[in-house]
Amino acid sequence: MIQTIKDLVSAKADTAVALAREIWGYAELSYEETKSAAALVAALKQEGFTIEEGIADIPTAFTATYQCGSGKPVVGFLAEYDALSGLSQKAGCPVQEPVREGGAGHGCGHNLLGAGCYAAAVALKDYLIKEKKDGTVIFFGCPAEEGAGSKQFIARAGYFDGVDFAYTWHPESVNEVGSKGSVAIMGANFIFDGIAAHAGGEPHLGRSALDAVELMNVGCNYLREHMIDAARIHYAYSDPGGTAPNVVQSHAVIKYEVRAPKVSQVQELFTRVVDVARGAALMTGTKMKYEITMAFSDNMANGTLGAVVDQCMRELGAPEWTEPDYRLAAEFLRTYPRTTMVGIREKLGYYFGPEELDAALEKPLDRVIHPFNPKETAYSSGSTDVGDVGYATPTVMFHVATACLGNVGHSWQNTAFACSDIGMKGMLRAAEINADVILLAKNIDGVYDCDPAKNADAVKFDAITYDEVLKRHLAVMDSTATSLSMDNHIPVLVFALKDPYNIVRVLRGEKIGTIVKEA
Ligand SMILES: [Zn+2]
Repeated sequence: MIQTIKDLVSAKADTAVALAREIWGYAELSYEETKSAAALVAALKQEGFTIEEGIADIPTAFTATYQCGSGKPVVGFLAEYDALSGLSQKAGCPVQEPVREGGAGHGCGHNLLGAGCYAAAVALKDYLIKEKKDGTVIFFGCPAEEGAGSKQFIARAGYFDGVDFAYTWHPESVNEVGSKGSVAIMGANFIFDGIAAHAGGEPHLGRSALDAVELMNVGCNYLREHMIDAARIHYAYSDPGGTAPNVVQSHAVIKYEVRAPKVSQVQELFTRVVDVARGAALMTGTKMKYEITMAFSDNMANGTLGAVVDQCMRELGAPEWTEPDYRLAAEFLRTYPRTTMVGIREKLGYYFGPEELDAALEKPLDRVIHPFNPKETAYSSGSTDVGDVGYATPTVMFHVATACLGNVGHSWQNTAFACSDIGMKGMLRAAEINADVILLAKNIDGVYDCDPAKNADAVKFDAITYDEVLKRHLAVMDSTATSLSMDNHIPVLVFALKDPYNIVRVLRGEKIGTIVKEA
């Protein structure tokens, strides 16, 4: 079965790699991804997908749909393809050398993300045709993840309503189904208007919008002590009101972003930021208004889907790295200063024990599939519009290594990896995992007292305890997954994936398979 998946993905590997390189070259910013979206649309059209462009009133958003038989289940892939400003960098080059000085670059690897989803969607479509199976594959072209997002608007327009489940991957430095959630975010422009005047001659007649912006920042910086640890407040000057110190600035704009684990926490903190802005306007005799520019919901992995993807990742394993890959990765890791390395080691401590970490950093490309923990309640401090899909349909995101261990996100190093052999290997493995989620056909549909293939009268358990599984030497899951589940008191459901619709049945709470749990 694994071979079928590998064959189907490898048949599209050249196109996927070419697409990833092409989109990397365009490096288009949020909402401006016209060439990148067109490249993906053309490739999917070529494969017989039906295209709907400009969905949710976003010109560079689209769906590509392929239906087989009854069309059920409906599976969605969430693809991204936007770049980041100022991160231009030569492909695979471990010394900072931009392609275009100050130009944009794929510093988050969304070129790989989009092209990897292409390979997975086409492989799955080809499988459904070949095996005469039912199902619908929808490739969602989701622009502007780095900007104001698109998935929340696509969700609001109802495009995920008929989707049974959705998943995606993200280029990373480790291989895992992300157990940690990502936080909710809200962004807004705060606009202050005052009165211009000669700063030397008649400053008493002026009311400074720039002063208001600065006082708002001071107020928010004092606010930080009185908010939850997991929250974040960031700001950037989008219009300081001019470049002349001898003019009292009558107009200034500052952009704020507020993050916290839950949407309700973001809303509460954002209200306090607005109060600070009101106070700044009052202090300076200016007028304040604000406009919300973006908002994403929090994102938590769906436990059932996460466990299925984790299983697929274990079957396929980490990308296969070569000695030159390790050497190049080590070169990239050396570009980080000592202080950054301290932070990198601290972050990697989540995945590796102290001795393991030293060994891992010697050949700094991840060779492990880190265990998925559906009971994880911690959040990482990043945000994604994938969260809004999760509120519309069961959704999960996994990570595959496309860069060196410890690689810092949104960096020139990341842009270089996103068009390297290392990046392409990770992308193709991600495509195999994506396709495997549906293709993975288990021969068993639960846990039996003996091998059902050898014994016609094998009895299937509806429920069984971990102790019994171990005592009877029943092969249920691999040992890492078993011990992790036991340690974390996680019940595991064993069910057949021969019928892809079973995932939907489990997500709906129907009783199929065998539940393995504590006594
Ligand atoms: Zn990203």
